[in-house]
Amino acid sequence: MEKLKERIQQIKKKRPAYGEILGFYQKVKEAQAKLRASLKIDPIRVRKEWKELLTKEGFSLIRKEDFPRDIELSVKLFQTLCQIGRHTSPHLAAQAGKIEEAIENKKIDLKKLFKKGIEGKTIEQVADELGLDKKVFLFLVQASIKPSVEAAREQLHGELDSETLLKGYCPVCGSLPSLSLLKGEEGKRYLFCSFCGYQWRIDRISCPFCNNQEQGSLQYFYGEGEEAYRIDLCDRCRQYIKTIDYRNLAESDPVLEDLATLHLDILASQKGYKRPVPSPWTP
Ligand SMILES: [Zn+2]
Ligand SMILES: [Zn+2]
Repeated sequence: MEKLKERIQQIKKKRPAYGEILGFYQKVKEAQAKLRASLKIDPIRVRKEWKELLTKEGFSLIRKEDFPRDIELSVKLFQTLCQIGRHTSPHLAAQAGKIEEAIENKKIDLKKLFKKGIEGKTIEQVADELGLDKKVFLFLVQASIKPSVEAAREQLHGELDSETLLKGYCPVCGSLPSLSLLKGEEGKRYLFCSFCGYQWRIDRISCPFCNNQEQGSLQYFYGEGEEAYRIDLCDRCRQYIKTIDYRNLAESDPVLEDLATLHLDILASQKGYKRPVPSPWTP
């Protein structure tokens, strides 16, 4: 946490425009860390034969909806996050207010939402029906189950060898990556799961979304004076992934680095490329 705070201060100095969003992120991380100590989830057991079959067939170990969750803790965290949101930007404050009202009027049952979702509806559908900002609502829900998801991912960590998996989707939960990371002296490339945060190895030159490996249709650009952040563009599927180059940056939270470089997402989108897993904070 101390390291995270330090890094946030550094970024704020360099890019004051990100002050509000980074302040919010810090409070979210603090709230998650505070509750993490009391987290209780059921242990996950993956049967050996099953695991072999899954990896052979290219399936992920577990589905997103099958992650064990600490419901009580998620509910508490969700309420705390709404409170934090109330004191952030006017937009977040308004959204938090609407959500709290919907909970009071029993239009959102938090326990149900975290257990199985509301009557088979997706989070986006629930947000739509209640006239909420989908991205904000989805962020709050995901941030509230994050401690459970991370604990489960840590349990599953030993089940896989992250160095030999060369897929474009998460071998643990099947989700798409939100970022790519370059690490170690030779810049080994890893993908970072948008849902569970697992990191696995992938080829240096390839599009994780369409598996394109033709150099002629893969390009990239850097932010001005920012050699640690790169946007990798694929002309075949017209999508992009943000790459954080840890050879030019001290170890830090990838999600924070992503947040601090939203200007690169705007540039990529102006060039006509899409981000398959959008950041909740890009306009
Ligand atoms: Zn995952
Ligand atoms: Zn592609």
